Amino acid sequence: MKALFIIIDGVSDRPNPELDGKTPMQYAETPNLDKLAALSITGLHDPIAPGVVPGSDTAHLALFGVDPLVAYTGRGPFEAAGIGMDVKAGDVAFRANFATVDENRIIVSRRAGRIKEGTHELVSLLEGQTIEGVKVLIGKGTEHRCAVVLRGKGISADVTMNDPKVDGKPIKQFKPTADSDEARLTASVLTKFVEFAERILPGSKTNADRLQKGKLAANTMLVRGAGVSPHLPDFSTTHGLNAVCVAGGGLYKGVARMVGMDILEVPGATGGLDTDLDAKVNAATRALEKYNFVFLHVKATDNLGHDGNAVGKAEFLAKVDKAFAPLISLPDDTVILVTGDHSTPCPFKDHSADPVPIMLRGKQQRLDDVIKFDEYSVVRGGLGRILGIHIMPILINEMRLGKKFGA
Ligand code: ZN
Ligand code: ZN
Repeated sequence: MKALFIIIDGVSDRPNPELDGKTPMQYAETPNLDKLAALSITGLHDPIAPGVVPGSDTAHLALFGVDPLVAYTGRGPFEAAGIGMDVKAGDVAFRANFATVDENRIIVSRRAGRIKEGTHELVSLLEGQTIEGVKVLIGKGTEHRCAVVLRGKGISADVTMNDPKVDGKPIKQFKPTADSDEARLTASVLTKFVEFAERILPGSKTNADRLQKGKLAANTMLVRGAGVSPHLPDFSTTHGLNAVCVAGGGLYKGVARMVGMDILEVPGATGGLDTDLDAKVNAATRALEKYNFVFLHVKATDNLGHDGNAVGKAEFLAKVDKAFAPLISLPDDTVILVTGDHSTPCPFKDHSADPVPIMLRGKQQRLDDVIKFDEYSVVRGGLGRILGIHIMPILINEMRLGKKFGA
């Protein structure tokens, strides 16, 4: 059997007066999700644990069957993997920004005036450095974002960031946060790398163009989010699955890559409101011919939750539902799992620990009587209330791949 594992990011919510007191899931017209709910066993999950507010990265780890309390070492490694860097276990990875400082090293803009073009050149100028025996790899993200990966012996993630987090303050020094040679070396390598960046970047063609147009020069780098790249169990060895990821957002591709999934690049998959949902669903269903596990991620529901835009969230969810129409006719040897990675309630404009609806369509299941996919209906579902980490074993059992514990 095969599996299509769908995560609609931050989909679940709270009742909202803008939606006649309903949640976006309740309010939106979602005939396809509801049809699927009728064919599924449903329930709720607590992504990490009851009352724990999940991040998207830690929640995805749990949903992929990896205990985030053990495996999560900071956002850096997942961001770096997400922009396509080949992060290896033991590397120390960071999120980074191109930024603008004045002659006194006061931050003028933490995002270099939201630089969009020319970052390819900037990254290429900084590539290939080895400092005190440590390789410094750099990868380009979207807009001002990039990632820095340190590779070598005797490094650690025990360092502070140089990012003061607000404009108008001086750039900070990297400092070791542990009394160890590894922490001191790492702080020293980062310091020298940023010094190098500040020598090289002002002479770039990109910055010359920017200054001529009256824009801010990207003349330094802010580095944060240190994490030692963890050694994660591989999907193929752990579950015997040949897995692939269809996603727009980098972080999700990063988590998927780190658990051993292939990444399918789909033109038009942006991770935003403008994403091509039909292209993603089409790519995901076609991928089922080659892979026995396909992870499909939809992001914009979370963005709309962060914006507090309940009407927009309900409208987008209706669009997602339309794009999901082909799923109904998938043969029943394909297990279909639909859930969210956490709730992003519009009234909170952020993630919450509220449990998340889940449904699982398999073969000859003990069905429940739930026929709508929303926060309230699934309370009566047959899966009950489970933890995120339980989802993969339940899915594996539904795929008839479960290994017997005992005789
Ligand atoms: Zn999320
Ligand atoms: Zn979010």
